Amino acid sequence: MIDKNTASFMRSLCMGEIEEEVVVPFPQLEEQDRETLRAVFTSLDSLLKPRAEEFRKWDRAGEMPASFVEEMKQVGLFGFVIPEEFGGMGFGATAYSRALQEIARYDASVAVAVGAHSSIGMRGLLLFGTDEQKRRWLPKLATGEMIAAFCLTEPGAGSDAASIKTRAVRQGDHWLLDGNKLWITNGGVASFFTVFAKTGRPEERGAMSAFVVTRDLPGVSVGPHEDKMGIRASSTTTVHFDSVKVPADHLLGEEGKGFKIAMKILNSGRTGLGGGSVGAMKKLIGLSTQQAKQRVQFDRPIADFSLIKQKIGHMVVDCYATEAVVNMVSGLIDQGFREYAVEAAISKVFASECLWRTADEALQIAGGNGYMCELPYERMVRDCRINRIFEGTNEILRLFIALNAMNDVGAQLKELAASLKGVFNDPIKGFGVLSEYALRRASLAAGLRRGKASFTRLHPSLEEHARIFEEATLELALATDRILRKFGKNIIGQQFPTRRLADVMIDLFALACVLSRVSTSLERGGPAVDKEVDILRVFAGQAKRRMQQNFARIEENDDDIIRSLAADALEQERFRWDNL
Ligand SMILES: Cc1cc2nc3c(=O)[nH]c(=O)nc-3n(C[C@H](O)[C@H](O)[C@H](O)COP(=O)(O)OP(=O)(O)OC[C@H]3O[C@@H](n4cnc5c(N)ncnc54)[C@H](O)[C@@H]3O)c2cc1C
Repeated sequence: MIDKNTASFMRSLCMGEIEEEVVVPFPQLEEQDRETLRAVFTSLDSLLKPRAEEFRKWDRAGEMPASFVEEMKQVGLFGFVIPEEFGGMGFGATAYSRALQEIARYDASVAVAVGAHSSIGMRGLLLFGTDEQKRRWLPKLATGEMIAAFCLTEPGAGSDAASIKTRAVRQGDHWLLDGNKLWITNGGVASFFTVFAKTGRPEERGAMSAFVVTRDLPGVSVGPHEDKMGIRASSTTTVHFDSVKVPADHLLGEEGKGFKIAMKILNSGRTGLGGGSVGAMKKLIGLSTQQAKQRVQFDRPIADFSLIKQKIGHMVVDCYATEAVVNMVSGLIDQGFREYAVEAAISKVFASECLWRTADEALQIAGGNGYMCELPYERMVRDCRINRIFEGTNEILRLFIALNAMNDVGAQLKELAASLKGVFNDPIKGFGVLSEYALRRASLAAGLRRGKASFTRLHPSLEEHARIFEEATLELALATDRILRKFGKNIIGQQFPTRRLADVMIDLFALACVLSRVSTSLERGGPAVDKEVDILRVFAGQAKRRMQQNFARIEENDDDIIRSLAADALEQERFRWDNL
């Protein structure tokens, strides 16, 4: 029986164990959620469908009109994840992600405004708020009377969020808050801010707390809308706190736990960004297929050419895999699994990169038309670029994925090292741990696929593809073991091998999700299941090639040369060679 409090698919995978009960069968939406979603889609259609031209104008203007934000409130777009008892729709992660998917088919700025409110802006209140705090604010957040924003980033603190300078000092019944936040989505329209501020000693890294700060408190101000590359109609501003007296009962969660709270909020909200990415990919596939059939060159629609078909085929594979990954993560959350941070981070990296590829190829299929502002391609390319940067850059998330997934292997090695030290004091215990560990390694090395190192619940026709997964799992377990033995704690500074392991993990999780999705479709039947099997064939082949390359390059690579070329360029601050 799987323990939902501790089970972690990716951490077990690094130990060579496939916890298939976590990922098979593929999670499905509850019928009740389906019904609510259908109603939501109808409202979204009538709000967003007639507005294609306005979205284009608002992008150029860099702002959406206040009257449209009012309409968003009327339709209930700000109440998706708020429990029904507080006036919201009570969506779980899957239904929420599906709703954002639908919005993103129309416009990324609208999706980001809704996402910043629900995924991160008010999520701290949902996850950590007291009953009294929830009663006070959730009803207003559900109607959109209050729009929420998440205030972590500062001019000097981006990826290194622990280095924030905003401070809150306790003074009797309130906290005195001072500091400046940067690039805050919804800044210009929000009246509910989840703010992170240092509350420990100034020299203590990361000792911060989370607060609810409302716009009406004296000393809160926001800067002008930033002029951005994409999602231009969404509001992004600075937010300033100048000696703001924040009542003591606005503290969110425990004092001093702000960093953990920020990370939990980001993890929990990731399926919003994933859902949005899937929506944009589906829209792009629709646009590209129509474009390819309409555009005639060399007396034929360009859709006839294999190089165009190749792009469209890959878009379909990427979209299917992304949807599988995003739905799997939201399914894990809805089923009550608590250790999904690595899988959620994978879904963010995978979704944002698949969407980027899809948008780029869609623009290429449209050719020169794709480059023109009249058509939506260039805007979609600009809009989706942010997904690789915000809510944790993909570089930082890759490090997070690999280092966290390897946690258990590290712990076991530490235990082994400690026991080896004690072999002479307590030979029986020492030998026990050693032999158990040696056995595990031996069985991994021999590639024995038995027990927990294999899938047993997948549809039998998928054996060949499951084997790709199982073999790579064994290799991953051996590679993490090897790398952790080699670098120990210093693995933190080894970004090249860490990145390769992260890429393997991303491929493996995506493959597990696609396997599970296809297997469940085969069991249940449905339209075009044979095509789903084809998608699996292509994805498994691609993933296998990428993983083999990553494994091979852990030991044999050009890393030192690349590092020295970069060091040279950094020293020169220019490209060295000018051929004149
Ligand atoms: C449009 C927009 C909306 C945003 N909305 C919000 C919001 O609502 N709330 C909020 O709090 N923030 C928001 N942000 C901020 C966003 O989360 C940050 O931009 C992001 O966390 C990255 O920080 P940075 O931009 O300072 O980049 P930096 O941290 O300066 O990173 C620059 C580059 O260095 C890389 N890098 C940094 N450290 C390492 C490392 N240790 N190893 C390897 N590579 C590294 C990064 O991956 C990146 O490629 C928003 C940003 C934008 C652009």
